[in-house]
Amino acid sequence: MRTAFFFQWSVSQAQGPRVRRRSAEPGSGSEPHAHPCPNPNCGAVYSLRRNLQRHLRLECGQEPRFKCPVCGFRSKRRNNLHNHMLVRHPDAPLPAM
Ligand SMILES: [Zn+2]
Ligand SMILES: [Zn+2]
Repeated sequence: MRTAFFFQWSVSQAQGPRVRRRSAEPGSGSEPHAHPCPNPNCGAVYSLRRNLQRHLRLECGQEPRFKCPVCGFRSKRRNNLHNHMLVRHPDAPLPAM
């Protein structure tokens, strides 16, 4: 039920303590809501600015922080390592996260 979810999301946003006005960003009305990564070697594009900021802070240009203790597989995302452990080493204990 995407419609219901969006409706609830909109209500929760509208009731937030701070609502930014669109007029703060000139020319934002006609531009597509895409936020490409400024790193030329990356090419990632996010529809939400907060996702791009998270990408820049946690992923882009960063060394993979999560390492598999069994085979040395490395990932930038904890979920990816988690899935890797479940698929490749189902009998191994999950590392402390
Ligand atoms: Zn990037
Ligand atoms: Zn592994």
